[in-house]
Amino acid sequence: MAKIKVGIAGATGMVGQRFVQLLESHPWFELSELAASENSAGKTYQEAVKGRWKLTADIPEYARKMKVKECLPNLDCQIVFSALDANVAGEIEQAFAKKGYIVSSNSRNHRMEPDVPLLVPEVNADHLRLVEKQKKNRNWKGFIITNPNCSTIHMVLALKPIQDAFGIEKVMVTTMQALSGAGYPGVASLDILDNVVPYIGGEEEKIEAETLKLLGKMKNGKADNALMNVSASCNRVNVSDGHLESVSVKLERTATEKDIVKAFESFNPLKELNLPSSPSRPIIYREEPDRPQPKLDRNNEKGMASTVGRVRKCRVLDYKFSVLGHNTIRGAAGAAILNAELMKAKGYI
Ligand code: NAP
Repeated sequence: MAKIKVGIAGATGMVGQRFVQLLESHPWFELSELAASENSAGKTYQEAVKGRWKLTADIPEYARKMKVKECLPNLDCQIVFSALDANVAGEIEQAFAKKGYIVSSNSRNHRMEPDVPLLVPEVNADHLRLVEKQKKNRNWKGFIITNPNCSTIHMVLALKPIQDAFGIEKVMVTTMQALSGAGYPGVASLDILDNVVPYIGGEEEKIEAETLKLLGKMKNGKADNALMNVSASCNRVNVSDGHLESVSVKLERTATEKDIVKAFESFNPLKELNLPSSPSRPIIYREEPDRPQPKLDRNNEKGMASTVGRVRKCRVLDYKFSVLGHNTIRGAAGAAILNAELMKAKGYI
């Protein structure tokens, strides 16, 4: 099978770097273009990320000498992965989709538009159907699909098996979010050293709204919001990678603690598709009372799994648990790549 050419818009940032790392030797996709702002355009990739390559492994050899281009819709590729700053992502992504590119985006800009799929393959693969509507509505040759916010995705992966088995009425979540989630340079060191910041602009609203869209059902060609209440409180903590979340849920039907753990452990809706980036277990349940932890669990299944633990009774709602996941892998670049793999498997590419 000839590989599909892909490009990255925003290739130099925190998420862009992850794309470069994850696309090395991808069995279906070949990275043919790198693009970023005019500050980076014209430089080789290694020059453009000099002093701000922040991943533990070095810049992959295959990308070092590639020229960074401007984010204009004349790139030699079929799919554009977008890791663009949200201040510019909206218009740039639209320009690519208009010209016939398939845009798989991490940015918030188009997530909540009714004809744009907000996708987690294990949760709402059928929402992909919205792209037909999008192309028709906008008279575009290409289209945009999006992945959710880096906290939403891990919580929704954990909520989906509970919703399917017992129904959910209410969700309360408190997040402890890693520094890499704010991009680079992100939060100033003097603001976060020896500290927790109980505010991340726009984050609570995103988690509350995106969860409803993701857990909603497709009906008459549109994605209805799930009928539940979600309340989120977000904190920035002094951790490099990995968002930890404390979640409480009120169920529609009764369940035991064992039933809930079983629902987590048996959840594997993509098993048959064999997508290259799909984790063999999307949810890993840890029984130890002090897990999951960012340092120990963020890289489970190469950063593509959500790790859950501490299922127990909640005195206010019904049950509570902790969920943790890698924010720039499953929470960003890995999510967009998995979405593109789903599109390929379902015949959209
Ligand atoms: P970042 O480190 O600040 O990187 C932003 C990227 O956008 C850089 O490549 C930058 O290029 C490019 N850019 C900025 N202005 C531009 C312009 N005018 N034209 C073209 N390119 C431009 O941000 P990040 O953390 O990687 O996040 C990228 C996106 O993913 C954001 O929308 C963010 O909300 C979302 N996201 C992030 C995470 C996470 O955990 N970090 C998780 C989920 C989603 P230059 O280097 O040339 O300036």
